Amino acid sequence: MSIISCRELSKRYGKVEALRSVSFGVEGGELFGVIGPDGAGKSTLFRILTTLLRADSGQATVEGLDVVRDCRAIRSRIGYMPGRFSLYQDLSVEENLHFFAAMFHVTVRENYALVRDIYRQLEPFRARRAGNLSGGMKQKLALCCALIHKPSVLLLDEPTTGVDPVSRRELWEMLARLRQQRITIVVSTPYMDEALRCDRIALMREGAFLKIETPEGIIAQFPQTLWSVQGDPKYRLLKDLRRHEDVIAAYAFGDAHHATVRSERITPLQLEENLKMLGYLNVEVKKIQPTIEDCYMQLTGT
Ligand code: ADP
Repeated sequence: MSIISCRELSKRYGKVEALRSVSFGVEGGELFGVIGPDGAGKSTLFRILTTLLRADSGQATVEGLDVVRDCRAIRSRIGYMPGRFSLYQDLSVEENLHFFAAMFHVTVRENYALVRDIYRQLEPFRARRAGNLSGGMKQKLALCCALIHKPSVLLLDEPTTGVDPVSRRELWEMLARLRQQRITIVVSTPYMDEALRCDRIALMREGAFLKIETPEGIIAQFPQTLWSVQGDPKYRLLKDLRRHEDVIAAYAFGDAHHATVRSERITPLQLEENLKMLGYLNVEVKKIQPTIEDCYMQLTGT
């Protein structure tokens, strides 16, 4: 049985359809990622699963408990880290942790083993006010506070947004360790590269799930041929690529452009020649493996 199960969840705020009939299940011990840009509906979904918000229609259960009927029972089983920093800024690191433990009628000592690896990094700052911690340290403390009552399900809403790259990596390493302890984790992120850290992901846009799959599965199902195209000047190159009869779609991607092509009609070398004839410098065209971001672009048609 799925640990989290959602069936046709919908939620609107006035004219905005924040969730549009979302259905999915998360298995026990799974690290499940909800990936989508700002405004996709991730927080709305998390708020419904954590019993803080009611869906307009549809059903959701966590460990078989209904998010509306059994909201109190669910709250003691889940750990939740909201997108916005939610700890008490005026309390110290240590005080925050003890406060959250007390709220759930447990002591820090009895569940310390679960947070030890993370808390160790916070220990030098344990008397510091939470409001004066760096972004990465705040996230570590928030994770400790979400874990201290030993939840079986952890819901983390954009834990890496606005966090430096080293802290981002550390956070994912911590999640991998928690997963080894069979804690079911649902995590949202707008960073497509983080999708590869998850067992399965849901790609989300405008309140709907576009696809639910393993990251490898999504990449393997990419239906087109993808090339990386370099050349200067870059902006004009993108416009010319989009006009090219053998290019299906082209978009800027870091230093290069990515283009899906009708590869039965043209080779990378031929496109290189075409572009050189048009006066482009430093031209290089090569076939590449799609990333999750390419898959997202293809699925959304953007
Ligand atoms: P995400 O977490 O992916 O950024 P949200 O769930 O926060 O997405 O928002 C989904 C959509 O719902 C957005 O268009 C957002 O502006 C809108 N929205 C979210 N909360 C409210 C609210 N309380 N009132 C009105 N609109 C909201």
